Amino acid sequence: MIRVAINGILGRMGGELSAAILKDESLALVGGIDTLETFYSDKICVSIDPDEILNEADVAVDFSSPEGAAAIAEACRKRRVPLISGTTGLSEPQQSRLLELAKQVAVVQAFNFSQGINLLINLIQKAAAALQGKFDGEIVEIHHRNKKDSPSGTALLLARALLQGLGAPEEENIRFGRQGFQAERGPEIALHSLRGGSVVGEHQVHFLGSHENIVITHQALSRSIFVEGVLRAVRWIPSQKPGYYTMQEVLGLKT
Ligand code: NAD
Repeated sequence: MIRVAINGILGRMGGELSAAILKDESLALVGGIDTLETFYSDKICVSIDPDEILNEADVAVDFSSPEGAAAIAEACRKRRVPLISGTTGLSEPQQSRLLELAKQVAVVQAFNFSQGINLLINLIQKAAAALQGKFDGEIVEIHHRNKKDSPSGTALLLARALLQGLGAPEEENIRFGRQGFQAERGPEIALHSLRGGSVVGEHQVHFLGSHENIVITHQALSRSIFVEGVLRAVRWIPSQKPGYYTMQEVLGLKT
């Protein structure tokens, strides 16, 4: 049985993950950490003190805030507990805490835990390399009307993967939309964002050739796709050596 602690347990991801762990007989939820102090339950122990919860844990999972991610990394370092980190928007010093921790225990970090998106990242890297720059790459992403950031972090991950496959990983090759005049198209990848309705999340990667086009699309139908990916990482991490890993290693796409 793998004993799991969740940082940010009272949030949206923390809540969905707790429910999934409680249903799974091969996993045990030892408790959670959160900064909200107004929660009482006889089922789950929630504390503001990571040390109290990590004492019993084989793995910690973090979906909190950038401050929370740095704090749980430090607590895991003290107790040598492997960490799965999903919080986005970390500053450089906060990210360094995770990399420091990875010298002592296994750390899995992903800005998108969906198995489909991680497979897509792998596929488009391979496709870009095989097409040898003879097809133009463009990315379209569609999200519900309430999504605040554009383009999505996942679209950026996909653009970087595409450029990596093309052997041109420079950030200046990423462009946000197209407007005005351009004499000739260069090696850049443009990201196009559509916002409206209730779309959970759709990402389309277009390879546009002279006489043929390829479009690879991923559609997120529910937030549970992140939980399923996290559970794969929870089962994978206990047997890993200290180091920094991504979902590519968890899914066996990169060894
Ligand atoms: P949320 O606001 O619903 O929940 C965050 C929870 O963390 C809240 O309960 C909050 O009280 C708690 N928290 C804040 N600071 C804390 C701290 N210092 N210590 C402990 N707990 C703290 O947010 P959410 O939608 O659950 O997302 C949480 C994070 O996960 C965000 O950064 C989000 O972008 C990211 N996220 C990542 C993925 C992925 O696949 N990587 C998927 C969904 C969300």
